[in-house]
Amino acid sequence: MGDRPQLRAQIAHFPGLAQAVHGEPLAYLDNAATTHMPQQVLDAMQAFEVGNRANIHRGVHTLSQRSTEAFDAARDTLKAFVGAGAAHELVFTSGTTEALNLVAHGLSDNGRGPAVLQPGDEIVVSALEHHANLVPWQVAARRSGAKLLVLRPDAQGRLEPDALAALLGPRTRVFAVTACANASGERPPYEALLALAAKAGALTVLDAAQAVAHEVPRIAALECDFMAFSGHKMYGPMGIGALVGRRAALERLVPLRLGGDMVEWVSEQEASFADLPARLEGGTPNVGGAVGMAAAARYIDAVGRDAIDAHVRALRARAVALLSGLDRLRVLSAEAERTAIVSFVADDAHPHDLGTLLDRRGIAVRTGHHCAQPLLECLGFGPTTRASFAIYNTHEEVERLADGVAHALEILR
Ligand code: PMP
Repeated sequence: MGDRPQLRAQIAHFPGLAQAVHGEPLAYLDNAATTHMPQQVLDAMQAFEVGNRANIHRGVHTLSQRSTEAFDAARDTLKAFVGAGAAHELVFTSGTTEALNLVAHGLSDNGRGPAVLQPGDEIVVSALEHHANLVPWQVAARRSGAKLLVLRPDAQGRLEPDALAALLGPRTRVFAVTACANASGERPPYEALLALAAKAGALTVLDAAQAVAHEVPRIAALECDFMAFSGHKMYGPMGIGALVGRRAALERLVPLRLGGDMVEWVSEQEASFADLPARLEGGTPNVGGAVGMAAAARYIDAVGRDAIDAHVRALRARAVALLSGLDRLRVLSAEAERTAIVSFVADDAHPHDLGTLLDRRGIAVRTGHHCAQPLLECLGFGPTTRASFAIYNTHEEVERLADGVAHALEILR
């Protein structure tokens, strides 16, 4: 199978990939953890840091004004990127983890009067979640006295709307689900799941960390109150991410970061908070990161979301076909659609050994529990080896992966 010519041209945009590892050309297949950045993103960040670096809002001087403008423009770009409408707002965070903590904390904290979550309320999360969309809900449940219910997958690792319907009730206040499970690659029918939960009166939370680099969920088309994503998984920098949501839902959150820039007035004993989005962005923001993340969104759109989505899906399908052909190797969620992740286990070969042997061939994969221990336990798997694809990966690299795994299995067995 050949590579798509319009995407092959993109490889040259990524200076970090033009290197050898252990004398072999790098095949970077760890994109679900972090993607590389194109020159366009590096240039945008460099231009900001060199030409416009200053703190935002508090300055009357020119650089401060330019920095504020760059920050506001980045917000607008990212809102448009995820299809936010007039009723939505976007809050910058340090990443998906902080965005999800902001929601779970913001609904369970009683710092500004009664919390949204009350004793006896119910929070439903799926068992496919990254720890970032589970642990904050465990703490929110404990803090508020709410009950945490888990939507378990079927034996193939799929989430079923009927199973969710059975868990929803009059006390369901929150439903949180991933747009793509980072440990298995499963892509749940989140559109239907969110709609069901919203119909039952729950606030809905979508973890879009693994979808935003190719599928890019459009929030206004979903029954979604909060959606979280990270810059470093969409060809942007680390340390920046976003929480986008319905303004009315964001207004219900008690801020996580209290301090400068998020207040309107402050007396010795009290403070009143600023309007959104500043209210949820206390402290000096990562302006350079926001600029880079917006440049990454523009890059994705310049290449074309549909083309990227088709490319990574084709790579995944090829990887599933080749790996499934190997002796005593099982691919998780082999049937999953619209995913860039292939996660697998091989009998008598520990993922860490497999990953180390692949690294000797210049192939970067991730091994372990992928911050999703409950899912792997629920499916009866231990740690896995995970390859994940991006715009710059090729079918040749997928073949190198399959050859490398076959070779490693010969050594390890
Ligand atoms: N959710 C999912 C599905 C993820 O894959 C990750 C990162 N592996 C996170 C949340 C956390 O993202 P971050 O580390 O950027 O905060």
